[in-house]
Amino acid sequence: MFDYHTHSNFSYDHIGGSSMEELVCTAIEVGLDEIAITDHYDPNFPADEANLDFPAYKKQLLELKETYKDRIRVVPGIELGIRPGATLQSCSDEIVSFPYEFVIASVHSAGDHPIHRQSFREGRTDLESVIFYYEWTLECIKAYDNFDVLGHINVIDRYLPTDPEESLYIDCIEAIFRVLIEKGKGIEINTSNYRYGQVRTIPTLSMLKLYRSLGGEIVTTGSDSHGVRYIGKNLSDAQELLRAAGFTHLTTFENRMPVFRTL
Ligand SMILES: [Zn+2]
Ligand SMILES: [Zn+2]
Repeated sequence: MFDYHTHSNFSYDHIGGSSMEELVCTAIEVGLDEIAITDHYDPNFPADEANLDFPAYKKQLLELKETYKDRIRVVPGIELGIRPGATLQSCSDEIVSFPYEFVIASVHSAGDHPIHRQSFREGRTDLESVIFYYEWTLECIKAYDNFDVLGHINVIDRYLPTDPEESLYIDCIEAIFRVLIEKGKGIEINTSNYRYGQVRTIPTLSMLKLYRSLGGEIVTTGSDSHGVRYIGKNLSDAQELLRAAGFTHLTTFENRMPVFRTL
């Protein structure tokens, strides 16, 4: 199993305060083959401070990769919170400064608000919020290239009181997939929905089928665990979802290059 989305106490929103080494040791205990550490970097995040202590972060990534190399592959990664404009330059500058092997780009805010805050949806219906979020995401990924997969594509569902009918905005999703595929970028199955009680998987099966039908091949699997508690959780469900959508492989990364693993 491959957990390609995890957060240590380097992330500003960490829960439980697990060190990076505790994540790696837990990953070994639960029998993972690889763990990608992907702490948050959200420049210009329109709310809380969302900085990352880069010197310490990079030092630990390299040390743990070396220390545990005979027991597990530790993949030095990062999760970027992308926004249009100057944020994208900050993200790009960071990525070229260090040999990250895996980069997630995620949309954590749209307009002037974090998407998890109620202020984001003030003055909009749930459907309008969803469409605004996907159109913002599309703008971001059109303008930005230095990443490997788009994180938790439909996480917005978690923050809305209702789940608007998918057919009402599937064209927005399709537009995003077309840009990702054209750029050689992938998506992830993010298993955090299971612990949040979110009925829809991330992405939904129909989204995953759409991505595949358009020629998409790159799909990573990750828990998005903040701390040790959920490391490796529901990854078998993620693999099942991939199979149900017709995929025969999942994807890992080495030095930013996709590696296809038979399911
Ligand atoms: Zn995220
Ligand atoms: Zn995350």
